[in-house]
Amino acid sequence: MLAAIAEKNAYDIATENFEIAADALEMDKSTREMIKYPERTLTVNVPVRMENGTVRRFEGYRVQHSTVRGPGKGGIRYHPRVTLDEVKALATWMTWKCAVVNIPFGGAKGGVTCNPKEMTQGELERLTRRYASAILPLIGPEQDIPAPDVYTNPQTMAWIMDTYSMTRGYTIPGVVTGKPISLGGSLGRNEATGRGVFYTIQSACEYLRANPKELSVVVQGFGNAGSISASLLHGLGARVVGASDSTGCVFNRRGLDVPKLIQHKETTGRVAGFPEAEAIGPEELLALDCDILVPAALEATVTEENAGRVKARIVAEAANGPLTPAADAILEDKGVFIIPDILCNAGGVTVSYFEWVQDESHLFWDAQDIYNRLEKVMKTAFNDVLKLRVERRVAMRTAANMLGISRVAEATKLRGLYP
Ligand code: NAD
Repeated sequence: MLAAIAEKNAYDIATENFEIAADALEMDKSTREMIKYPERTLTVNVPVRMENGTVRRFEGYRVQHSTVRGPGKGGIRYHPRVTLDEVKALATWMTWKCAVVNIPFGGAKGGVTCNPKEMTQGELERLTRRYASAILPLIGPEQDIPAPDVYTNPQTMAWIMDTYSMTRGYTIPGVVTGKPISLGGSLGRNEATGRGVFYTIQSACEYLRANPKELSVVVQGFGNAGSISASLLHGLGARVVGASDSTGCVFNRRGLDVPKLIQHKETTGRVAGFPEAEAIGPEELLALDCDILVPAALEATVTEENAGRVKARIVAEAANGPLTPAADAILEDKGVFIIPDILCNAGGVTVSYFEWVQDESHLFWDAQDIYNRLEKVMKTAFNDVLKLRVERRVAMRTAANMLGISRVAEATKLRGLYP
């Protein structure tokens, strides 16, 4: 994994993919200059009182890549390997992603370099509140709206919402999404990313004339996005034969009992040790005989070294940036149908948008309403991208980037250059 990350940094990948799509759009240099780079980049110091009484300093970031089409939107990641370049890449992808699903948001992202697994709840609360205070000038329901990402959750959002509201003197739920339901969160938000992944896989199967009930699936990264897409595919009758998390990988040729695996992960904190499966290594997992691979962990897990061994016909990128450009090229050459991240995992930000709309209008929708609206958005976006792919004879990733980037370029041109 570390070697894979060293292959290319995430921001290099994001800018490389931008240039490929901009070339395909025959975009002029001035427009590229205006939309390619992050609008604002903030690095903050986050001193935290630890349980042993000492003060430890963490580094945090908030990057707004674009606010041309609306407020910045993007999650906050707590992870030991968070870097400014990673946050810039994730913010850039958020801009194109929001444009692909055509919601009125720009792109942003935040992160703190820390290891939440080694911190107590108290330390995490103090870290979150101090980080929220440090990025306070940038965020707000009309400015930039954070959400959960890797190793942050509804509780983290509740602390940010409270910290922000306390400084303003009244309750402002719309400053973050992915909140607990009792604080203005939306029904369906927790499973939105996995559900969106599921809808795009359904659309891909329809296009490829494959019956999802006859397909086998491998999920790398059995967290929020991975376990929920696995569970919905399992519910549809697909066989989930392999799953992994950062502690290990499990395999069962006849299909894992996904609800039981979720329960096992909830109880023990890991997929490893699941009784009805064999333990295998991470490289073996990627090379398993299957129809659909869902990389749902972190960036650059599928690389030049292991892409040649992938046997799946469909790769559904639940994670952001799971394929390096070299891996992407290898899979494209093999004729693998790739559902690119900015399309595949856009269900999360779409229901975040629904949450923000509900908060701002103080009127809440039921779960079925959310699912119906989400399905419509995801399937429309899938078909828009597919149409461009067929018309322009480009890869799905290039088509998705072309769609998102062209919408941002159009908005930028209409607004003009200030002053
Ligand atoms: P999560 O923390 O719930 O799950 C991540 C999982 O990946 C964990 O189970 C972890 O153990 C596992 N993991 C980490 N490193 C791994 C490795 N090397 N091999 C196998 N497993 C590994 O996070 P999440 O919210 O599900 O996010 C996963 C990915 O999906 C990230 O790239 C994130 O940016 C992306 N994403 C998430 C959302 C969302 O709403 N949750 C939305 C869009 C994109």
